[in-house]
Amino acid sequence: MTKQNDTGWRDVARIGQGSWYIEQGDKSEAIAALRRGLDLGLSHIDTAEMYGDGRSEAIIGEAIAGRRDEVFLVSKVLPHNASRQGVRAACERSLKHLKTDRLDGYLLHWRGPHPLEETFAAFEALKQEGKILSWGVSNFDEDDLDEALAAAGKGRIACNQVLYHLRERAIEHAVIPWCERHGVAVTAYSPFGHDDFPAPGSAQGKVLSEIAREHDATPRQVALAFLTRRSSVFAIPKAGRVTHIEDNAGALRLALSGTDIARIDAAFPRGRKPQALPMI
Ligand code: NAP
Repeated sequence: MTKQNDTGWRDVARIGQGSWYIEQGDKSEAIAALRRGLDLGLSHIDTAEMYGDGRSEAIIGEAIAGRRDEVFLVSKVLPHNASRQGVRAACERSLKHLKTDRLDGYLLHWRGPHPLEETFAAFEALKQEGKILSWGVSNFDEDDLDEALAAAGKGRIACNQVLYHLRERAIEHAVIPWCERHGVAVTAYSPFGHDDFPAPGSAQGKVLSEIAREHDATPRQVALAFLTRRSSVFAIPKAGRVTHIEDNAGALRLALSGTDIARIDAAFPRGRKPQALPMI
């Protein structure tokens, strides 16, 4: 299943592939995992200049060689590089590491010292040149999004990439509704809690296992299906192993019932809206 919004995020699989720390595992296994993910439809690959100082991008560049057209490729600029000239230089470096001539999405990793107007003007210039096909933000709360919209104008911000997993549902309060109102895709990062997934024997783990059993699925597939239950939300689990990629790809076929969703909702309560948007 793919999702659409009006800023170029068309035909993007709802489950993708993250790549933070991918350079710290076995390189050939990571490349095999990324390629297996493409075979299975996990076309959205997320990276950032920050990850391993470009080494994550370089591994992805190797993995997607000869398959660029199958990939929806997203990278991010560090806040301190997000000046008018800095964005351009960072983008050129990322393109070089990734061995490609374009990014499908380019995001401001989090808010930093440079005015949003300057960063966004640089994104727009890169878009005009075809070096990026869309751009967006990351770790933006509702008030940041208001400012971003005022700076960018309507219909320009493609995506907001934010922390979202079963035990951290803060974005459901205001960020998801804001993004849905404005046609901005939400990308859920760290969908497994950055490796803090409920243990099988725990009360929460048992709920996931029960639902998984009923669907002939796995607990991680249930979690991914829950997080992407709204048409505006994509998830980008990171998996450095082929077996993990195959497990995650199974979530593309899983649709939860209203009862399943209510059970997960009860086991992993949303909680109150925090003062500030959580991020890692
Ligand atoms: P995550 O995806 O929540 O969890 C990754 C961990 O889960 C890895 O240890 C991985 O192991 C394991 N895993 C994945 N699939 C599994 C499976 N089916 N069974 C068992 N274990 C499995 O954590 P994350 O890397 O923090 O988040 C995902 C991506 O979001 C990042 O890689 C990055 O691209 C992005 N991100 C963005 C921001 C931001 O500020 N914008 C912040 C954090 C993350 P293996 O690697 O051994 O397979």
